[in-house]
Amino acid sequence: MGIIGGRYAINQEICNMSFWNSFIHPKYDAFIIGAGFTGLRTAILLQLKHPEWNVKVVDALPVGALASTRNAGFGCFGSPGEILSDLEKGGERDVVRLIQSRFRGIQKLQQIGGIDVEIEGGYEVFIPEKESEFRRIEKSLPELNRLLKEVTGSDQTYLVKDISGFKMNFLQSAFYTPFEFQLNPGLLYRKLLEDSNRLGIDVQYSVEITNYSKSNTGWEMNFGHISFQSQRLIICSNGNTSKLLEQSEISPARGQIILTQPIKELPLKGNFHSHEGYYYFRNVGNRMLIGGARHLDISGETTTELETSEIIMNHLQSFTSRYILPQNSWSIDTSWAGIMGRRSGKGPLIKELDTNLWVGAGLSGMGVALSESVAEQLAELVLSNYSQ
Ligand SMILES: Cc1cc2nc3c(=O)[nH]c(=O)nc-3n(C[C@H](O)[C@H](O)[C@H](O)COP(=O)(O)OP(=O)(O)OC[C@H]3O[C@@H](n4cnc5c(N)ncnc54)[C@H](O)[C@@H]3O)c2cc1C
Repeated sequence: MGIIGGRYAINQEICNMSFWNSFIHPKYDAFIIGAGFTGLRTAILLQLKHPEWNVKVVDALPVGALASTRNAGFGCFGSPGEILSDLEKGGERDVVRLIQSRFRGIQKLQQIGGIDVEIEGGYEVFIPEKESEFRRIEKSLPELNRLLKEVTGSDQTYLVKDISGFKMNFLQSAFYTPFEFQLNPGLLYRKLLEDSNRLGIDVQYSVEITNYSKSNTGWEMNFGHISFQSQRLIICSNGNTSKLLEQSEISPARGQIILTQPIKELPLKGNFHSHEGYYYFRNVGNRMLIGGARHLDISGETTTELETSEIIMNHLQSFTSRYILPQNSWSIDTSWAGIMGRRSGKGPLIKELDTNLWVGAGLSGMGVALSESVAEQLAELVLSNYSQ
């Protein structure tokens, strides 16, 4: 056994199971791969329904999750440009169903206390060179509002708003929806962990499941020399899903974010999207959070590497100076990367794959609002199979 810098190195020997280990890790009733919003919330729903179950959630990362602790904290309703583009790619009913799921999630999240919810609405903004795009979408606004009335109950899900007070270099008219809000993803994650702990769910980090197979009594999951046994297996691995499931149609999509130092007299508040959501920015108190630009290097950003890249970081900075904060001096406090699971145009994959094996993954860039409904649907599928 090696000791490096006073700490035990985690090597194959230390991972060998002792006789006692089987008492630490009983046979679980439900085992969930992935401690993001989806995995934790699914575990909570199952444990609430069956307090007698042994429920375990593991995550490969030492702390937090690939996306849930690394996102921008938009309670995304969706911008008109994004929704029109989805309507061009897919069926109207599928698109409306997905917006309905997000809307339900948004409403539920707004009821949770202590997660810094700010309801300032969401704007879709356009650089001046894209004025024709703005005009094209503007023409479709009445039809979009008619379509979305069944979701929001409002005649004005979207409206055109003057944003000159924000002192940005975008077109001075933007599309606005009051149905979008901000939250603090760190506090939401902490809340889910607190709920998990309170219910006695066993959450373990730094455990990467490399393979799993059917056993006599359910499923066996392997992490080095350790194997876990469970009657039910639920895969909530989002951006990493293609490593666990062949043909999942989910690919990793890295997102990068910069957060500024506090800015004196920051002139804007709310959520902002541009370029069909490829850029997004919001205020975090009197700081700005800016993310996106992955369309500049799609192949480089189709990765699970949790690193920022020079090309995206440089671009986000110049985009910020040129369009978002042209009149303010600002500097970066911190930056980070996270990994989404993208399932193009189809919404998340929520499915029973085999006896007692389910997947809920591919929440793309909307999982803050969507994870609640994905978890609900997953838990429902799992429980519909349960007979005492
Ligand atoms: C930069 C960025 C900005 C975003 N901004 C927003 C936003 O503003 N609003 C919004 O709605 N959504 C946003 N998203 C998307 C949102 O964060 C995700 O859709 C959501 O967090 C997905 O939750 P999840 O639990 O399904 O996945 P994750 O949070 O990714 O959790 C899945 C977990 O599974 C673990 N895992 C994978 N494979 C294994 C394995 N083999 N063994 C063990 N563990 C494994 C991973 O380590 C990971 O932690 C953003 C994402 C990123 C990256």
